[in-house]
Amino acid sequence: MMTLLNKLWTFHGGLKLNGHKNLSNCAAIVKANLPARLILPLLQHIGSPAEPIVKVGERVLKGQIVAHCGGQHHDGEQGHCLKSRSAPIHAPTSGTVIALENHAVPHRSGLTAPCIILEPDSLEEWTARTPLLDYTSVDPEILHQHIARAGIVGLGGAGYPAHLKIKPDAIETLILNGAECEPYITCDDRLMRERALDIIGGIDILRYILGGIKRCVIAVEDNKPEAYYALIEAVKVHNELLKRAHQSPIEIVQIPTLYPMGSSQHLTKVLTGKEVPADGRSSDIGVLVHNVGTVYAIYRAVRYGEPLLSRIVTVSGTGVETPQNLEVLIGTPIRDIINQCGRKAIVKRILVGGSMMGFPLQDDDLPVIKTTNCIIVSQPEEITVKQPQMPCIRCGACADACPESLLPQQMYWHAKAKDMKRIENFNLFDCIECGCCAYVCPSQIPLVDYFHYAKTEIRSADRDKQKAEMARQRHEFRQMRIEREKLEKAEKHKQKREVLTPSPAAAATVIHVESESAVAAVNTTSEAVDPKKAAIEAAIARAKAKKAAQHTEQSAPPASE
Ligand code: SF4
Ligand code: SF4
Repeated sequence: MMTLLNKLWTFHGGLKLNGHKNLSNCAAIVKANLPARLILPLLQHIGSPAEPIVKVGERVLKGQIVAHCGGQHHDGEQGHCLKSRSAPIHAPTSGTVIALENHAVPHRSGLTAPCIILEPDSLEEWTARTPLLDYTSVDPEILHQHIARAGIVGLGGAGYPAHLKIKPDAIETLILNGAECEPYITCDDRLMRERALDIIGGIDILRYILGGIKRCVIAVEDNKPEAYYALIEAVKVHNELLKRAHQSPIEIVQIPTLYPMGSSQHLTKVLTGKEVPADGRSSDIGVLVHNVGTVYAIYRAVRYGEPLLSRIVTVSGTGVETPQNLEVLIGTPIRDIINQCGRKAIVKRILVGGSMMGFPLQDDDLPVIKTTNCIIVSQPEEITVKQPQMPCIRCGACADACPESLLPQQMYWHAKAKDMKRIENFNLFDCIECGCCAYVCPSQIPLVDYFHYAKTEIRSADRDKQKAEMARQRHEFRQMRIEREKLEKAEKHKQKREVLTPSPAAAATVIHVESESAVAAVNTTSEAVDPKKAAIEAAIARAKAKKAAQHTEQSAPPASE
């Protein structure tokens, strides 16, 4: 058997949990009913929120972009860019935009967020679709952009825009994550059983974009034998073709059922023996991990030109008559799908996500978003009554269970003492908040809550520090500008003064030039004497001389008689 030949590595800690999988994994996927309205939050992924491009009252077609990707990198027209850490949002069906408003969204904060509210018209009228049937005749970059434009994000729950992880020429190993390790969730199990060929089709597309990868593996936990054999059957013919083309075959590998095997770090470790860097992603070490649901969405986008409009959601727990998997339009109110599965009269709690990492909802008038993989509806008896928190007895069970080899007990002490520096030294940010430590703690200490709180505090302090640093830099820059302007002003005054008070040498030159000018002026004057004026002056001079002579005669003594 292929799997026996595959070497598997192990990781520290982890838990064997009761999966509660058989509650919902026996029935085939069912299409959810069309709701009366769809609520489309602008942020359904990790990154910048999408930006709406529709107005209230506007009619939209199924598959039409209603919000293009946010951030600085969208190209406006096509609503995406390969660099953008965001994803566009499409109308899941045709209808009318009835509001752009804040609405409650499925998030642990319980806060509202901007949403587009769409009223379906039941016509299912599609916008123009652009399938790429013969995608191997298309440039891989165009294909990559096509995926980005389809608004596909990690459907395993992370919500990281799928196109950003696809790094052509940098990936050696492609891993398809079919582990689905959290209790209750069975959407990937049913998808692998029912649509295995489409998943293989998605893998082919990824392989074409990535170029020559060395290894391709689909990992399935050993509690899903039906999915495993469905995939084995689906790759039989395919692997023959790959071998003939001298390409590596697709390996289907059964891995042990151990929580949290489905995290990309642990799956990478188990299948390749490689450690993902603490502050990095598996793609940083040449390994691309995609959830099987994400790859299925990529196949639909390329083969049929369909953007991400729906997803498979597990509705499970004792609070519904028929736990099952539904194919649900994005934006469908959670209340509607719970009702479709037969909501029981008394419901104590509704969780979004699995029982380990999920969070409770205050209300069920919230939409299914791209990352909603599971809704657990519980009756009172299904919920373990929380015992009061007791002091830590230093038993060390938390450290034994931690899959990241951390020391939760020490981290807890420092978080409690609000000593954020020390807790960081215990690699707080390596904590994936899987909940294994809190699950085994005999003192019922909500350890994950402490770690989540500490991370939020540190991030907020870092943000404040960054803000203060920016303000300091702005202030310094302003001071520098004022100084520079002062110096420039002083220089200008100096130059002006120099022009008005010339140097002695320059002054002598000026005087010399001036006297020469005066002489020239005199000469010019004498040369230019008016003859009429000269005649008048001569007459006056003669008259004056005559008068003087007469005066001299009168004043002389008389001659002797
Ligand atoms: S498991 Fe709980 S009681 Fe035991 S060391 Fe860890 S925090 Fe303390
Ligand atoms: S929540 Fe964090 S500290 Fe606790 S077991 Fe998981 S990774 Fe370790």
